[in-house]
Amino acid sequence: MIPEIQIPSIVITILQVILAFGGAFFLALWLSLIVWTFRDARLRSRDIFAVILATLMVIVFGPLGLVLYFLLRPPMTLAELYERSLEEEALLQDLEERPRCPGCSRQVHENWVVCPECHSKLKKICSHCSHGLHLSWNICPFCGTAVDSFSAGNDHHTGQPGQPVQKVVDTRPMAPVSMSPTL
Ligand SMILES: [Zn+2]
Ligand SMILES: [Zn+2]
Repeated sequence: MIPEIQIPSIVITILQVILAFGGAFFLALWLSLIVWTFRDARLRSRDIFAVILATLMVIVFGPLGLVLYFLLRPPMTLAELYERSLEEEALLQDLEERPRCPGCSRQVHENWVVCPECHSKLKKICSHCSHGLHLSWNICPFCGTAVDSFSAGNDHHTGQPGQPVQKVVDTRPMAPVSMSPTL
């Protein structure tokens, strides 16, 4: 006769409860993995068949299917790909939009005053604050000083050749801002 082992019914009940909770948790985990995989695959691929295939892999193989998915999924999401393409486009545009010398059309730095290749004048200097100004400006945006168009280049005035530009600017009375277009 085999001696009967009496298991208290309370222990059996506890084991059943633990098993039920464990099973429910495992089921919920499996479902969560399926949902997560579906969402993640949607973010990474526009191909609906690839998304369905990835989801099926997790439905059938569970956590092992997820490992397979991690090995096979595209490294970047569509949003990351889009962002990267925007960055590359901006970089290219930045290269294209670097200013060029009007004389020799070489690329010049935006702060340069004179082209080092052909000596074309690229900018004029404000006599008050020494900022570089566009040749077409007649007022300094940094300090508000009206800029004499004579300093922009000698083609507007029939100034005396040989006389330093700075001297001519200094001897003229400072014109009010409202009068600057007449200069
Ligand atoms: Zn040049
Ligand atoms: Zn200035």
